[in-house]
Amino acid sequence: MTDRYAVIGNPIAHSKSPLIHAAFARQTGQDIVYDRILGSLTDFAADVRRFFAEGGRGLNVTVPFKEQAYSLVDERSEAAAVAGALNTLIRLPDGQLRGDNTDGIGLVRDLCQNHGFTFRDQRILLVGAGGAARGVLKPLLETGLAHLTVVNRTPSKSLELARLGAAYGPIEGMGFDGLAGRRFDLIINATSAGLAGELPPLPEDCLAPGGWVYDMVYGDQVTPFCRWGRLQGAERSLDGLGMLVEQAAESFWLWRGVRPDTAPVIAELRTQCKP
Ligand code: NDP
Repeated sequence: MTDRYAVIGNPIAHSKSPLIHAAFARQTGQDIVYDRILGSLTDFAADVRRFFAEGGRGLNVTVPFKEQAYSLVDERSEAAAVAGALNTLIRLPDGQLRGDNTDGIGLVRDLCQNHGFTFRDQRILLVGAGGAARGVLKPLLETGLAHLTVVNRTPSKSLELARLGAAYGPIEGMGFDGLAGRRFDLIINATSAGLAGELPPLPEDCLAPGGWVYDMVYGDQVTPFCRWGRLQGAERSLDGLGMLVEQAAESFWLWRGVRPDTAPVIAELRTQCKP
């Protein structure tokens, strides 16, 4: 019997998740369908209940419902608990709902496996303290990095992330003023500044020689942050398309117990989304 999955968000028409999961299913011979659901802004919980009551097996959750979804599940992974948000819902055999957050694993896998980045002993700067930054906190801190600094326009939020992450690794939070004179081996942009064509106010000299930049945002143009990284002499300037596919692969694994090969799927999306 064909098992049903979907991604729920609002808006949702732009989501690439159906394309990605269809490619995973073809590649691994899994009998699934994967739809898009436009979630109700007033009663998201009813949409989720209906989907599972009608036999749905799993949901991906995207903006703006990741935090709401967190309160709907019966059990949560530790990554989801730290994130306070989840992107994957799994219906367990007893009918209960489990929530997970695969964004952080997606980010770490893209950097390590697809691009050969070695986290060990690296000084890393995470820019932004919204849902995306919080979602990647635990897997990032568990990579063996030397130190994670979280910087945010509203410093109280980066301090809060530092408090949440302290159990998992060395972390500090600050405002942009605190970056003066500091150097980082990897700078990850988890702000939405680029969506408005803006840049977070990073000092010019904060990327160490040979350092990398990573933008969680992706699109068919080079993102403003990746352009900034190139101007700073970054050795690699990467966007978030690989993270998108890797977080989807982790959801697929949680649902189906099968790990798809992500490289051809990233390559396929890259031809449609060429920066
Ligand atoms: P939120 O709205 O939760 O947070 C936005 C963050 O950006 C806040 O830290 C905010 O700072 C900061 N910010 C916004 N504008 C500026 C600016 N002009 N200068 C400095 N900081 C700014 O958004 P999310 O965390 O959910 O998403 C962030 C980005 O990550 C989105 O673009 C999203 O598309 C992307 N993303 C990509 C994924 C992938 O798979 N590749 C997965 C998840 C997210 P403040 O707190 O001060 O307002």
